[in-house]
Amino acid sequence: MPTTVNAFGAHEAGQPLAPVTIERRDVGPHDVQIDILYCGICHSDMNFVDGSFGPLPVSPLVPGHEIVGRVTETGSAVTRHQVGDLVGIGCMANSCRECDNCRAGQEQYCLKGHTLVFGSPDPAEPGAHTQGGYSEAIVAPEDFVVRVPETLDPVAAAPLLCAGITVYAPLKRFAAGPGTKVAVVGLGGLGHLGVKMAKAMGAEVTVLSRSDSKREAAAALGADHYAATGDGTAFTELANTFDLILNTVSAPISLADYLGMLRLHGTMISVGVTTQPMPLDVFPLLQNGRSYAGSLFGGIAETQEMLDFAAEHKVTADIELIGAKDINTAYERINASDVRYRFVIDGSTFKGLTA
Ligand code: ZN
Ligand code: ZN
Repeated sequence: MPTTVNAFGAHEAGQPLAPVTIERRDVGPHDVQIDILYCGICHSDMNFVDGSFGPLPVSPLVPGHEIVGRVTETGSAVTRHQVGDLVGIGCMANSCRECDNCRAGQEQYCLKGHTLVFGSPDPAEPGAHTQGGYSEAIVAPEDFVVRVPETLDPVAAAPLLCAGITVYAPLKRFAAGPGTKVAVVGLGGLGHLGVKMAKAMGAEVTVLSRSDSKREAAAALGADHYAATGDGTAFTELANTFDLILNTVSAPISLADYLGMLRLHGTMISVGVTTQPMPLDVFPLLQNGRSYAGSLFGGIAETQEMLDFAAEHKVTADIELIGAKDINTAYERINASDVRYRFVIDGSTFKGLTA
């Protein structure tokens, strides 16, 4: 019997979210059922809900892809998880598992298209769409559920499932570490974890932000240096400086200005999502043999690796815990950059909601 659970979702793009009920499918042989303890609020949840990624794929749409919870039931063939385990689910809930990219452990780049944890047609249930973590419970294939180390604070670990892996994967791929200089552009949900992860990897970290207002906050997160870019002088002063620039800003920036700060063979990586174009001149790329790269969250194995790394180095998000009824206010505050640095919803507050 499918289970009806309380959730918070959008009936229409651009409208506030409201209490809803959704059906969770039966636990199949390879599935686990998870009681959701916490779910982070990521900027891309808002992109789906406000319509900037297009019409809602399903109505109601329940967002949420930074999920931490406890396993409450396992399918008959499940081997990776047991009832009671602390686990997480991030952006993906499935992929083809057969294409070159899936076999390379990069399921996020599945050539047949990955299944998002919400808003995707659900291969496990023809005709249905996946629904996300703003809810009491979820059912997902065991291979897309990762183990959350018990030493991590589960509420502060939730944002690692999207924001954490989104910054960890490219920092790892481009070898951030001792002796490298990393700049993090923007100090929001992604950026603050970018600083912590890059520091934990041993890099020298500079935060680049428009004004001086986040200087102290950057230092508190462990950043070695800070530069305000608003008046443009930083682009000259820091020309040819960084090995890596991690752009976490979810709005267009002047790529030529930032590329100019890369030293020999340096790489700028975009992880912030914007639907606006960002013009790219080739000349700043030619100088110093620079590269410009993108990165989309991460594969399942590297998400597990990231969580283990986070536990070893004590990296978690700085969060503000809210109840389900505060989600719409949280969205407004995120748009006003009024959060340090991630809202996380207390999963227990979905219980007792009436749709
Ligand atoms: Zn996200
Ligand atoms: Zn695939």
